[in-house]
This record gives sequence, C-alpha cells and structure tokens, in this order.
Amino acid sequence: MKSLSAPRRRPNPLRRSDIPAAVPARRLAGTGSVFGAILDHGPVARSTVARLTGLSPASVTGHVAQLLARGLVRESAETAGPRGLGRPHIPVEIDTGRYLVAGAHIAVAHSTVSLMDLRGRIVAEDRQPHRTTDPHRMLGELAARLPRLTDAHAGGRTVLALGLATGHRVDPVAGVIVEHPQLGWRDVPARDVLSAATGLPVHVDSHSRALARAEQLFGEESTRTSTVLLFVGAVVDAAFATEGAMHRGPRSGAGSVAHLPLGTGGTGGAGEPGRTGEPGEVRAGGGADPCTCGRDGCLQSEVSERAMVRRAAAQGLVVESFRELLDRALAGEPRAVALFRRRARLVGRAAALLLDMFDPEVLVVVEPGAGRMPECLADLRAEVAERSWVCEDPERAVVPSSFTGTVLATAGGAVALGALYADPLGPWPALPAVS
Ligand SMILES: [Zn+2]
Repeated sequence: MKSLSAPRRRPNPLRRSDIPAAVPARRLAGTGSVFGAILDHGPVARSTVARLTGLSPASVTGHVAQLLARGLVRESAETAGPRGLGRPHIPVEIDTGRYLVAGAHIAVAHSTVSLMDLRGRIVAEDRQPHRTTDPHRMLGELAARLPRLTDAHAGGRTVLALGLATGHRVDPVAGVIVEHPQLGWRDVPARDVLSAATGLPVHVDSHSRALARAEQLFGEESTRTSTVLLFVGAVVDAAFATEGAMHRGPRSGAGSVAHLPLGTGGTGGAGEPGRTGEPGEVRAGGGADPCTCGRDGCLQSEVSERAMVRRAAAQGLVVESFRELLDRALAGEPRAVALFRRRARLVGRAAALLLDMFDPEVLVVVEPGAGRMPECLADLRAEVAERSWVCEDPERAVVPSSFTGTVLATAGGAVALGALYADPLGPWPALPAVS
C-alpha cells in the first residue's frame, strides 16, 4: 500500500525555491499597492487611493509619507476640492523630476541602452551593433555607454538602477543569463559584471517577462489579470504572467517556444499559410532558414528576423537588414508586405496554441508587422480564429505591444522599474533611507 505521507524532500543545496522571494507580500500589499495606484491614477487624492486599494485613509497617509520621503512621489500643483482643507486634499503623483532608471537590451546583432523615467517614458536610447560576442567584453562596453547617455539626457536626475533584458533563458534571482544559444552564452553572471562596472544596483530578466511587466505597469491593463506575451524578433520566446506572479519555471525556461513545430515542413510547401502565388514563395526551401535544432518548420526558424531576410533574398528582394525589410513593407513593397503577412499567419498559429494552453485574459504579440500594419494584425487574428479552440474573440484577446517602436528600449528599463514598483521601500542606495 502506498504511503499517504508527503514524500521526503531530498536536501539539495541548489534548490532555488529555498531562496526567499525578492518581494515580501506585505510590503507589496501596502506601499507597493499605493505606489501602483498613484502611477495609474495620479494626480490622485489620498482618499481616492484608499478607496482604490482598500486600505484605511490613515494607512494610505503613512505609505504616501514614506514615498514622499523617498522622492518617488510628489504633491501635485493641481488641487482637488475646496482650498484650505489641508494637506490630505493635495493630490499626489509620481515624481518624474528626480530619478530615472537605465535599461540595457542585448539582441542577437546589436544592443540598446536607454534611460526611462518613473512613468515608463523613454528619455533617451542608443543602439549599437555588437563589436564582440564575448560576454564580459560586451557587458563592459554596455556599461561604458551609460555615462555618456546620462550626461547628455538625464537632466540632473539620478539613475536609481540598471535593468538588463535579453532573449532565451534568464534567471532573475541569480542574476544570470542561463542560456542564449544565438550568442553562444551559458551561465553569464550578468548582474555581477554590470554592477561592478556601473556601481548601480542591477536587475536582469528575460525580455519577454520584462515586456509583460511593462504592459502590466504602463501598457495594456487587461494583462494584469493574466497574459501571455509572445516576442518575435531575432529571438522568438514568450512569457506567462498572472496578477501576482510571473511564471519563470525552475530552470528559467518557461516560454521557450523557439522550436515550436508549425507543421510547415519548412519548405514553404502545402501547409504554408499566406501563399501569394509568387514564384519564390513555393520554391523548394523557400528561403527558409534551416533550424539550429536540426528540424524543419520550427517557429523561430520560420519567422525570426534572419529567416525573413533570407526568405526575402530567395525571392530576389535583397535587403541589408531586417529593419530595411520592415521599412520596405511599411512603404508598401508587395513582396515585403507578403512576407510580413505570411509571418503574421505563422505567428497566429503559435498564438492559437498558447491561447489554448494558458487561456490568458489577453495575449500580447511583440512583432513590428502586427504592431504597425493593420492587415498583418488582421491576418494574425484570423489565424487565431481559425485554429484556437478556446479563444472566441481574437479582436479582444490578441493585441499588439503597447511599446511598438520602442520595445527594446523599454525592455531593459522595465526590469528595473518592475523591481522598483514591487518594492519601493527596498534597498535602493540612491534613495533616502526610510524607517
Ligand atoms: Zn528548431
């Protein structure tokens, strides 16, 4: 007979779940929720914050006092209600005049450093092609670009922290880029390297989780209930988040959808959506990138930026870069448009599967075609309507990124701001201490 007692836990010194969560729940429920309500509704009266958060007016006054002491919120110049009724009636808002966060995003071919204010607005960004793929040298060069950006654009504001985002598997607790196959990186201790180089507190996370967090904080509000974010760039990956938690997985591997089989056969053959009848479209191989995993028809090898450029070249549309291909499509070049519509259909297949798997309130697609070309978004939603068993309303359930055009500049900063909004009273060395 099977024992009904709980299985004995094997002691393992590396168990990550034994590490306490970075965000104490009580703190988030108090000052964090007040900070969030001020972000959403400011300038807002304390009494309204009390109503929004369910906290008592006295406790809201206490939390606001701590946020004021840290310089994270300020009393607004606007007045609410009749004059002369005292401080509680002066509304409060996020103070964007004192602090910024820095962001860094590492893509396959280039990196972006940025500055962001506490409302998530990009203040400045700088994109540079990689000059090396050695992780320590690349991180050192990233760090070296920050002071120039700050000197030119911070306007006297202090940088609180640096957030780093990149694709594939990132462990935010350990501060390590676990695996980035396209860069050839494994177990890169990015947080330690960058904090030593910049002197700033550094937070690292995957770009998909960072962008999901950015949506929850500053973008699409329906993502706060539950969301899947699908990132389609040079890297293809995803994130799954609910109201209180971002699912990461014990190996930081949640959302590894690069090799999701699409059933295209990888040859542009019969299973291919969005065929236009162009001769190049159905040619054997069709310009498809052979996948690094050795199989055909993986999501990433079909829709990545590199695959798009190769497929364009196979059709006689030679472009220097993915950006140029996008510009051609936005200008209406028919072959470029057809390539983005094909991509939208294939991304729609993956989106349908993710919708069925997680049934999120909303699925956010980070892909510039769907973000900027209405016909691509329509194609993507049509594919979802055709294939998903669960999603009945693709118009509502599938949305483009709120940060189209500034996705990479947003991702890094969102890692730092996500940490700040989760724990505004935490150890932020640039902020005055609170009791
Ligand atoms: Zn593959």
